[in-house]
Amino acid sequence: MIKFHITRNNLTVEGTEVKKYCLRNIVKMDIFEHINRLREDDRKYIWHPFTQMKEWVEEPPVIITEAKDCFIKDIKGTWYLDGVSSLWVNIHGHGRREINDAIKAQLDKVSHTTLLGLANVPSIELAKRLVDITPEGLSRVFYSDNGSTSVEVALKMAFQYWKHKGVKSRNTFIALNNAYHGDTLGAVSAGGVDIFHETFGPLLFRTFRAPSPYCYRCELKREPDSCKTACLEVMEEILKRHSDEIAGVILEPLVQAAGGMICAPGGYLKGVRDLCSRYDVLLILDEVATGFGRTGKMFACEHEDVVPDIICLSKGLTGGYLPLAATICTDEIHEAFLGEFREMKTFFHGHSYTGNQLGCVAGLACLDIFENDRTVEKLQPGIALFNKWLKEVEKLDHVGDARAWGMMGGVELVKDKDIKEEYPWEEKMGWQVVYKAREKGVFLRPLGNIIVIMPPLVISEENFNLMLEIISNAIQEIT
Ligand code: PMP
Repeated sequence: MIKFHITRNNLTVEGTEVKKYCLRNIVKMDIFEHINRLREDDRKYIWHPFTQMKEWVEEPPVIITEAKDCFIKDIKGTWYLDGVSSLWVNIHGHGRREINDAIKAQLDKVSHTTLLGLANVPSIELAKRLVDITPEGLSRVFYSDNGSTSVEVALKMAFQYWKHKGVKSRNTFIALNNAYHGDTLGAVSAGGVDIFHETFGPLLFRTFRAPSPYCYRCELKREPDSCKTACLEVMEEILKRHSDEIAGVILEPLVQAAGGMICAPGGYLKGVRDLCSRYDVLLILDEVATGFGRTGKMFACEHEDVVPDIICLSKGLTGGYLPLAATICTDEIHEAFLGEFREMKTFFHGHSYTGNQLGCVAGLACLDIFENDRTVEKLQPGIALFNKWLKEVEKLDHVGDARAWGMMGGVELVKDKDIKEEYPWEEKMGWQVVYKAREKGVFLRPLGNIIVIMPPLVISEENFNLMLEIISNAIQEIT
C-alpha cells in the first residue's frame, strides 16, 4: 500500500506508483482552457443530485480526475482525504488492484447479459458468498442496481409474500421517523426525513410511523439512562392495534444514516426483532449504509444477533466500484412465491442490469479482500481512535452530540448547547464547516448541521488522526 502524507493542502506521495497529473490526453490543449471548458460544460449540462443548482453554478466545481487509497484528486492536482468514502460506498480504498484486475478480467469475457431467463457465473458465485456471510436463515438473493431498488424489492417482496399466504389485508409497513431508504417512491414512502420526503407526500403510500431512536432529541422527551427504550413501546402499540394491516417493519439497523447519523441505543434492534416475531410481521433491515463492516461488524444486525426476514445491501457490496444491490430473504419468503405458472405467483420485478457480471466480480473481489486482509478484525484501533476523538470534540462549545457506531459517525452542531438549539437551516453551518475542512484537505458532505464522518475502512491511523484533527479545527474556526 502506498503511503501518503498531507502537507497543508497538498499531498506528497511516497513510492512510485502514483503518477503526477499527466497531460497525455490533452497535450495540444492548454490545461487551463481545458479545465475551464469542463467546468462550463458541467454547469451547462449536468443536474447534480441533492444540489441547489442555482448555487452550484456560482462556484467552480471540483472535478475529480484520479483517486488512490483514501484520497481523491481534482483536476488542478489537489488531493483530498475522502472523508465520506465517496458517499459511503468505498471500503478498501480507491484503485485497489484486486478489484481493478477482477473487473478488467471480466471485461474480456462478458460485461453484461440479462438475468431474465439466463444465468451467469459471477452472479451465482456472489450469491453463494453473500448467503454464506449474511446471518443464518437468509438464503435467497435478488439482485438490483442500487440501495433504493434493493428497498423497493424488499417492500414489494414482503407485500406479495402475504398475498401468497392468503392474507389480503397487510398492505402497509411500519417505518421510523428520520428514516432514509432511498429516493424511489416506495423507498420515499418508507422515509421519514421531512426535508427530503415531504414534497412527494401526495404520491406516496401510507405507512405507520414509529419514533426514531434518537436519544439526543428524544421524541418522547425521555432520558436515555432511564427510558428503557420507550420508543419500542410506541411501536408495540401500533402493532397491537394494526398488525393485521402491516406487512413488515423496515428500518436501518443501529444507525439512521441520512437522517443524521442517529445511533440507536444497544438493545433497540433486538427489541424490534422480538416485536416483529411476537406480532408476526416481517422485519426488513436496510443495511445499505451499515453493511460491509461500517459499524465494526460485517453487518450491523450481528451486534445484537438479530436475523431479519429480508436484508437490503448495496453501497459497499462492490467496495464502491460499481452499482450493484442485493435483497436477500429467507426460504420461507421465497417458497411462498413457488407455484404453477398459471397461479401467477411470480415476483414480477427486475431491472435491465440485474446481476450484472462486472458488478458481481467487483463484489467477489471486495469479499476476497475482506477475507484476506481481515478488514473487519483490523478495525478496532480505528474505532477506538474515533470514539476517543468523539468524546473530545463533544466538549466544544457548539457540538451538541458526537456519536458513532464503529467507523460511521456524526457530529451535531448546535447554536446553543444548553438548550440544544439548532442552527437555522439557511445558515448552512454544516456546509461552512465542510468547506473549511476542504480547504485543509478533507472532503466531506454534511447532513444539515451534522458533519458526517465515514472514511474508507482501510484508512491508516495516521491519516484518520489527521482527518479528525482537521475536522475539529474546521468546527472551531467556523462555529
Ligand atoms: N438505504 C440507506 C440506508 C441509504 O443510506 C441509502 C443511500 N444513502 C439508500 C438506501 C439508497 O441508496 P442509493 O442511493 O444507492 O439508491
